[in-house]
Order: sequence, then structure tokens, then C-alpha cells
Amino acid sequence: MEINKKEVIKVKKFRITWCGTIPTQCEICGGEIKDEFTDGRTKVGFWANMCPSCHKEFGVGLGVGKGQKYSIRKIKGGGTEWIKVKKTH
Ligand SMILES: [Zn+2]
Repeated sequence: MEINKKEVIKVKKFRITWCGTIPTQCEICGGEIKDEFTDGRTKVGFWANMCPSCHKEFGVGLGVGKGQKYSIRKIKGGGTEWIKVKKTH
């Protein structure tokens, strides 16, 4: 997966993007991360990159100190970018 740097800079002006290593696997169930993941705190206390279903089951929610949800979107030039999703629940 390649990211077009010019496009990333443009996007950053108005969106918060994921800057770390893009996870390919859920750290809880090992399932493939496809179009969204949550970097969040689990009920046990540690943080993990989780798939949506694991976040539902083991996460403590979304927001500061709880978790941030990221969703993939396509950008011009054929790359993809992870965009932070606003709290939805
Ligand atoms: Zn999972």
C-alpha cells in the first residue's frame, strides 16, 4: 500500500490522519484490518489496534483516553489514507 505524500500533506490541512504504522491485523483476534480500526484502550487496560468487532467487545468506547477510530479512504493518485472518524457512539 503506497501513500502519495503530496496528497497526504493536502489532506492534513483539514483532517487528522493516522501517522503511525498502518496496522494490517487486529491485535486482539488477529483478523485482517480492511477499512477501519480503532486505536483504543481495552477493558483490561492496555491499548491495541482493534477491528470493529473486537472494539465493540473489548474496547471502552471512543474519545480522549478511550480510543480513536480510523477509517480508510482513497485519495487521488491511487493511494489510500486513514482518516480519524469522529465519535459516533
Ligand atoms: Zn479483532
